[in-house]
Amino acid sequence: MKTLIILLALLLPAAAGSQVKFDDWFTPQTLRFDYIRAGNDRTNEIFFQELKKEPAWSGNKKSCIDPFEYGHYRYILFDSASGKMIYSRGYNTLYDEWQSTPEAKTLNRGLYETVVTPYPKKSVRLELHERGAGGIMKKQFELYINPDNMYINREAPSKYPVTKVIDNGDPLEKVDIVFLPDGYTKDEMERFLSDSKEYAQYLLDCSPFKENKTKFNFWAVQAPSDESGVDNPGTGAWKNSIVNSGYYSLDVERYLMTYDIRSVRNLAGATPYDNIVIISNSDKYGGGAIYNYYTSIPNRNNDGPYLIVHEFGHHFCALGDEYYTSQVSVDDYYKLNLEPYEANLTTLVNFDGKWKYMMDKNTPIPTPSTPEYKDKLGVFEGGGYVAKGVYRPKQDCTMKSRTYNNFCPVCAKALIEMINYYTGDK
Ligand SMILES: [Zn+2]
Repeated sequence: MKTLIILLALLLPAAAGSQVKFDDWFTPQTLRFDYIRAGNDRTNEIFFQELKKEPAWSGNKKSCIDPFEYGHYRYILFDSASGKMIYSRGYNTLYDEWQSTPEAKTLNRGLYETVVTPYPKKSVRLELHERGAGGIMKKQFELYINPDNMYINREAPSKYPVTKVIDNGDPLEKVDIVFLPDGYTKDEMERFLSDSKEYAQYLLDCSPFKENKTKFNFWAVQAPSDESGVDNPGTGAWKNSIVNSGYYSLDVERYLMTYDIRSVRNLAGATPYDNIVIISNSDKYGGGAIYNYYTSIPNRNNDGPYLIVHEFGHHFCALGDEYYTSQVSVDDYYKLNLEPYEANLTTLVNFDGKWKYMMDKNTPIPTPSTPEYKDKLGVFEGGGYVAKGVYRPKQDCTMKSRTYNNFCPVCAKALIEMINYYTGDK
């Protein structure tokens, strides 16, 4: 009976979601909440910045409640009057990664963050949740929002030209990816458009995107930077670029990211979008991505095809890194006594909830990294930045090594589920 009650409790959000009719609660526009998340390695506080109304919404209308359990954070909208949950999404930001860095032990720091929801018709309560002890989500912050409040910023979005790179139809029924340029001058905008086309094609030529290519739209916002290139503190190169990307984020040379999420969202708001990909004008290897936040890649590196699909895997459906040998910014990112939320990693704490059912019954758990199991689905030790205690589904995968078009079956399945979430095809 106890098991049944737990199961019912787990099913509740999904059941509630099917009962939310988008048009009853929302208009197809965006409500954006901007705030500062600040603290140190132990603390995490939210400070209000601004509410904004943006002209378009492109998420699907069929799944208002997030069916996934991904992300370190979550935001939820409740109808103020009835308390009914009407919208939710999981997400990550740079903050939870920063909390695992040595700097967070000695410095209090604030990072700008944003979340977006469809625009509510009636008064709502917005809650921000954080994954706390034991991996359980808990409420951190709440804000009552009257959608008619005169202080909600209704400025028109930036007027940069927008090009539809690949058009497969109604944004409400497609995965909409917007490319933003960083470090391209006005004279380099043609280059940005050709880079956008190239990267869209790299994604669409890789499985499982390849088999679902008609479910994607790609947009490009042609916003020039004052200077060509992006920041590289390691060489003393500081460039005045439009979304302020730079290498050495969180003190790791190849981590090409931006803390300036406000500029990123302001540019993206010029078009309907679900997912933001920033292309930096640089030939230096690097990149990064954060779940349900953004992907960042350089435009002129030989590993471009691998970088876009690997980073987009993090961004789009919270896939974890399956490697464990490269330098990273974070210490002990995965707690070995907890099952990680990432679909493609396990600590074996609750492997029944992961890909066990996809495995051949005769494959041992854990699985030895021998030639016999080279092409088999298994549970191979090493992943999530550590050689011991975290396991991955295949010996090799695009989330492990610099290989293109090589997602393992577990990663591919998670990607397909997310594509279908955006398109409303269940
Ligand atoms: Zn994988």
